[in-house]
Amino acid sequence: MMESALTARDRVGVQDFVLLENYTSEAAFIENLRKRFKENLIYTYIGSVLVSVNPYKDLEIYNKNHMERYRGVNFYEVSPHIYAVGDNSYRSMRTERKDQCILISGESGAGKTEASKKILQYYAVTCPASEQVQTVKDRLLQSNPVLEAFGNAKTLRNDNSSRFGKYMDIQFDFKGAPVGGHIINYLLEKSRVVHQNHGERNFHIFYQLIEGGEEDLLRRLGLERNPQQYQYLVKGNCPKVSSINDRSDWKTVRKALTVIGFNEDDVEELLNIIASVLHLGNVQYGEEDGSACITSDTQIKYLARLLGVNGTVLTEALTHKKIIAKGEEVGPLNLEQASSARDALSKAVYGRTFTWLVNKINTSLTYTHYSVIGLLDIYGFEVFQHNSFEQFCINYCNEKLQQLFIELTLKSEQEEYEAEGITWEPVQYFNNKIICDLVEEKFKGIISILDEECLRPGDASDLTFLEKLADTVGGHPHFVTHKLADAKTRKVMGREEFRLLHYAGEVNYNVNGVFLRCVKTVCVCVCVCVCVCLQVMCMSENKILNQCFDREELSDKKRPETVRYVFFLMFFYVMKQLRFLRFTWCVFLSSSGRFDEVLIRHQVKYLGLMENLRVRRAGFAYRRRYEVFLQRYKSLCPDTWPNWQGKLSDGVATLVKHLGYKPEEYKLGRSKIFIRFPKTLFGTEEALETRK
Ligand code: ADP
Ligand code: MG
Repeated sequence: MMESALTARDRVGVQDFVLLENYTSEAAFIENLRKRFKENLIYTYIGSVLVSVNPYKDLEIYNKNHMERYRGVNFYEVSPHIYAVGDNSYRSMRTERKDQCILISGESGAGKTEASKKILQYYAVTCPASEQVQTVKDRLLQSNPVLEAFGNAKTLRNDNSSRFGKYMDIQFDFKGAPVGGHIINYLLEKSRVVHQNHGERNFHIFYQLIEGGEEDLLRRLGLERNPQQYQYLVKGNCPKVSSINDRSDWKTVRKALTVIGFNEDDVEELLNIIASVLHLGNVQYGEEDGSACITSDTQIKYLARLLGVNGTVLTEALTHKKIIAKGEEVGPLNLEQASSARDALSKAVYGRTFTWLVNKINTSLTYTHYSVIGLLDIYGFEVFQHNSFEQFCINYCNEKLQQLFIELTLKSEQEEYEAEGITWEPVQYFNNKIICDLVEEKFKGIISILDEECLRPGDASDLTFLEKLADTVGGHPHFVTHKLADAKTRKVMGREEFRLLHYAGEVNYNVNGVFLRCVKTVCVCVCVCVCVCLQVMCMSENKILNQCFDREELSDKKRPETVRYVFFLMFFYVMKQLRFLRFTWCVFLSSSGRFDEVLIRHQVKYLGLMENLRVRRAGFAYRRRYEVFLQRYKSLCPDTWPNWQGKLSDGVATLVKHLGYKPEEYKLGRSKIFIRFPKTLFGTEEALETRK
């Protein structure tokens, strides 16, 4: 039995949240998501923003037929899909001749990386191909397994979690064929190299090498086929993951490296480094008269060979520091200092090798191109029970992106109204600049204060930092510390926390150890390790390390990289690039495979979806080109059925009048109709399409 469009819509909800009658109600928003999720409709729009809920099961919506369905089709005519976003960006790039950017955000495990892979596959299949670029296209697709091997790991939330931020350009030639790419990586989680939380793993590549590496390769590298032998792999007590086959992944990665253009030498040098990190982790220290010494030289022997450095020099470097303040003086390290120097070296070696790898991939992907579509995969707001510096950075990034989002949404709305000759009425919205300033303002923003405390010699600590914060920004309306809080807030705040009122909600950040430790690691690395260990790395005969560690760095008297520097560099680089592009936003929500309302509500809040919907709804919620509108609804009015003979705009006017709209409820632009509060009838395209 055929069901009517309206009952179908009752069942599947609306495909665009702007069509929700009760658009200010969070409950209605979540109910709509739930209805759709139940019907396996995981995608929904807020205007041109795509919202997705991770289904955690394979849906039959990504095959070639689907790709074809979305090719060149109007955004609203088909069910929302990540392919529609890909296609829309592609067509804008072709017609407007402007670079595009697809911004993918959401918490860990929400499906961001899968989505960017799907977009890449979509282009690989649907875009024109040309013979000579096939190699680059293959490389582009093959870069993924390599990056994932070195940059992804199993976490509690996601068995294949990307532990680095990624911005990727897909480059197209003038015919619209994908011909190359460029990747920028940032903020690799280097601490994972030396430590993993319970139930988590180190980066995949270590396990792949140990499980999948050929016998003679492992012998050459001095490795045993047992991850439990390695200190850097045992912290999480989780060597095997049921959803991961390290051995077959190893084969995939080895093949991919070849496709990307790594020769045997490159691969060998690369694996030497990976093995070295494992050996470094097993370097054991003892203590003699308060000074650290290395108790077994097995690892040093391997390290010397694999890294191509002198063993005695390396041993010295791992146990001694150079005291910078007094010139060239050398002194012994105590046990704790020595092991943190060793860990800092491991992190530096791995981190820089990762960047080298990305650059090498980039070289192999370079092709003369004409325009690009960028994919930015960024963490969404993170709010845990315990939020540390990492969450602070991530949430600040999102605060900035929200600013950009509102700015661009309002701007493009305004431009569209102008282009259509419709008067623009200013929209009231919450401008979150005040929160961005609180974090980033020179001299009196939070990062400035942190920066200052880090560089201040003497008794700077987490608590002096917190006190200084209270003194400087204590009166700010979006900032609260325990001391300044009212009685009610104080109950839910620790003494070592401060609270920021983000646009999406409040978050408590703990400064306990985390803030300054975060900074001091950089300092330990700079003072102890960079000076002695990195000096040794500069002497390495390993070609990769030789490129990664630069002699000039050592003579440089520049200030240590403080948090501010590291963080801003990465952020502004991305921001600056983004400014010039047209954006499409995709927001991903995680789920456990079922619709967990508490979890979903939390994300809807912290992803700022209600606020985004409000901004989108401030003007006309519904707009369509005349011909599309007429074609779709002409059957509803005897005057326009079966065909309207006159001017399109007159036909549309006749039609909406017939549907009962009053003149103040809609506007007719140059090529589109705008309706402020559309009736339930509109947006039933999908309901019609999916009715059973
Ligand atoms: P993120 O990058 O946001 O951390 P991923 O993209 O790695 O998350 O996705 C985590 C897991 O969720 C994937 O390994 C996959 O099992 C599942 N998943 C993600 N997107 C989809 C999808 N569209 N359909 C089915 N499963 C998905
Ligand atoms: Mg990811």
